[in-house]
Amino acid sequence: MVSAAGGGRVLADQDVCVGAGQCARVAPGVFDQADDGLVVLLVRDVPAGEVDAVLDAVDRCPSGAVRLGAPAGGPY
Ligand code: SF4
Repeated sequence: MVSAAGGGRVLADQDVCVGAGQCARVAPGVFDQADDGLVVLLVRDVPAGEVDAVLDAVDRCPSGAVRLGAPAGGPY
């Protein structure tokens, strides 16, 4: 289970990303964009303090390219 206190592992699919940039705007410590606009992950394991921002990015991403799974060592 992912919670604001527990961190998690972020996944981003460049094949799905449409370069809208919402993720990098709301969670700039986790997401960046390449020159072509596609999402780039800055970290895989999200610090607990960034979880809310990543969940916001997941909600805002128009293509469903980003998601947050279980922390490292979990099933993802
Ligand atoms: S918000 Fe979604 S579509 Fe936009 S850059 Fe990030 S991953 Fe790509």
